[in-house]
Amino acid sequence: MYLKRLELSGFKSFAKHIILDFTTPITAVVGPNGSGKSNVAEALQWALGEQSMKSLRGKRGEDLIFAGSPTSPRLGRASVTVVFDNSKKKFGNIDFDEVSIERKVYRDGINEYFLNGSKSRLKDIIEALSNVGLGASQHHIISQGEADRILYASVAERRAMIEDALGIKIFQLKRKESERKLEATEENMRQVASLRREIQPHLRFLQVQAEKAEKSTEIRARLKEKLLEYLGRERSYLKAETDKTVDVKAEPKKAVAAKEAEIALLRNKLQEEEACLSDRQACLPAGRGAGTLSVTDNAITDTKARVDMARAKISQLERDLGRLEGMLETEKGRGRANKALSVPPAELKVFLEKIDGDIVEAMELSDLEDTRRILKGVSQVVREFLKKLFSPAENGTDAATSLERRKLELEKELGARKKDEENAQKIYAEMSSKIQNSLQNLRGIEKRIYELESETSALRDKLRSAELAEEKLRLRREDFERELEESASILDGAKEAVYDGEFEINLRDTLRREIERAKIKLEEAGGVDGSVLKEFEDVKARDEFLARELEDLGKAAGDLRKIIKELETQLDQDFKNGVEKINKEFQEYFETMFGGGKAELKLVQPKQLSKEKSEAGEVSEDYAEAEEEKESGIDVLIDLPRKRIKSLDMLSGGERALASIALLFAMSAVNPPPFLVLDETDAALDEANSRRYSEMLSGLSKRAQLIVITHNRETMHSAGALYGVTLGNDSISRLISIQLEDAEKIAKR
Ligand code: ATP
Repeated sequence: MYLKRLELSGFKSFAKHIILDFTTPITAVVGPNGSGKSNVAEALQWALGEQSMKSLRGKRGEDLIFAGSPTSPRLGRASVTVVFDNSKKKFGNIDFDEVSIERKVYRDGINEYFLNGSKSRLKDIIEALSNVGLGASQHHIISQGEADRILYASVAERRAMIEDALGIKIFQLKRKESERKLEATEENMRQVASLRREIQPHLRFLQVQAEKAEKSTEIRARLKEKLLEYLGRERSYLKAETDKTVDVKAEPKKAVAAKEAEIALLRNKLQEEEACLSDRQACLPAGRGAGTLSVTDNAITDTKARVDMARAKISQLERDLGRLEGMLETEKGRGRANKALSVPPAELKVFLEKIDGDIVEAMELSDLEDTRRILKGVSQVVREFLKKLFSPAENGTDAATSLERRKLELEKELGARKKDEENAQKIYAEMSSKIQNSLQNLRGIEKRIYELESETSALRDKLRSAELAEEKLRLRREDFERELEESASILDGAKEAVYDGEFEINLRDTLRREIERAKIKLEEAGGVDGSVLKEFEDVKARDEFLARELEDLGKAAGDLRKIIKELETQLDQDFKNGVEKINKEFQEYFETMFGGGKAELKLVQPKQLSKEKSEAGEVSEDYAEAEEEKESGIDVLIDLPRKRIKSLDMLSGGERALASIALLFAMSAVNPPPFLVLDETDAALDEANSRRYSEMLSGLSKRAQLIVITHNRETMHSAGALYGVTLGNDSISRLISIQLEDAEKIAKR
């Protein structure tokens, strides 16, 4: 049994707490009119979520609470509990063996639902019940006088009842839920998309800033790298160059010192040589006495004069000698002709001129020795002339003799003069040679000094250029230090790396250019504003979050659409199959009831409706409206045997009841609900039909639990258990378990 128990407390006429146990397939509730039987059916209907007060015969929730009587006070609340067996776990994901659904209503109209004792939402109750085919259409509770409701319902309402009966309402609920979710998801997507659109301009602005900042950071990093390299190379260069400068200067310095010392030495020597030249005495070769060769500053000039004078004398003497020889020849010729001629006047003249010449010469000489020598010669000449003048001529004349003597004298003098000239010439040559030597030495020393000086000058140039290089290096080091200081902010504490690393020196200029370029670029790129970067990261993260959200929502929407589509397909399929099965049963029940004829449910499609709307299949309170909307639904076609009645409107009350029962039973047979409440459905049946009805009840009870409220004897007979409902004087309904024979009595009371 699905339905195990029903408990009422304060519900309508059931002021007291009563329990109905459903232990047999058919339970009959009997009792006189107005005793409260229908209240039992309504209690079930209400507890399972009925929302229509009209179908509960009330206006407000309060109407469901025991209103009190002259002897019993009214109650504050009504509660009904329905207990199901769930040992077969038909209630979806509810894992308990029993499922209890309780509904309470208070006088203020507040409703409460409890699922297995836990407060729940109506939605949860409906969903739980949908699992077992107890949908909102309450087709399983056929209220009094409502048996033919299904026949007069709108096509759409009928469809909803059939969907409920087929147990596919759950899919519809799921579909609706999915559609709601889809709608919510799409709304979310619109909102998220709009949020994203809103932040885009700001994000773009921030991105440009961030890109600038990023570029700036990049340039900075590159600049740092280049600076480190450049400064490193520069440091290595400076170190190498400094070491080199010390080496470069040492050698020339030494050389300059050596050469300067040599120059000083040579200058001393030069002075000596110059002194020698200015004082020729010092330059004379050793052993030569000053007495023999007086060499003053004019000594060489004098010596030269002496040579020249000796030469002039010699040439005079030679001329004289030539003339004398000529005269001698003449005289010798004359002597041969005139032996008497002693001294010719011409010869006398020569003699006298000679004397005169010598005396003049002797007078000019300062040297006494020379003067004496000349005067001695004069005396000699005079004596020889006298001898010749007063002795006879041997070879011709006396004149010739005198000339001969004179010639000898001249020759003698010439010899002496030549000797003189030779001596003077020798001294002169010696002096000249010495002077030449001295001069040569002087030139040699001067040349060497010159050479040394030019070498020193070259070395000094070298030193100067080394010093220049040093100066340049010093300036460059200053530049380096300055640059290092200036770069501190960019090096960002990495200054030591410049000193730690080993760097190649080359590429300096290329790096320098690159650094300058990077500095310009850095200036162009501007500074990095940390707060802008942070904001960019935040806004970007938000945008990314929204994008992900949008993507997730899009995916969820896609999934939902897929689910909806699948549910629609399943619904459509299940519905069509279900209707087909119901039709088979309907035809059979109909034939049993009417002994023939035809009955059929027919799917009607809307004439001009969108698929969406046509498949919504919602129940509308207003039949006319539903018809107007031309919703897809279910039509009932019947064909009574032996009658040409096709319209439902033309059926008698009994026929209507039979046709409705046939359809209800068919629906229940295809997908048996846990229970079926039939409130005086049999009221309009004659005896023969009552019997058929009772048989069908027995047949149907094999598939579904039945609770029948009846006055019908046949029906009471088919029941396995009977409850009698009576209304006491206190206007409170009471419930008693009774036997069949009592039932008939109670029912008739
Ligand atoms: P019938 O056989 O004529 O259909 P029944 O046995 O089905 O009658 P019900 O219609 O279930 O009788 O019972 C109606 C009774 O319940 C009435 O007497 C009515 O006064 C009583 N009743 C309805 N609502 C309340 C209420 N709120 N408080 C007290 N009694 C109520």
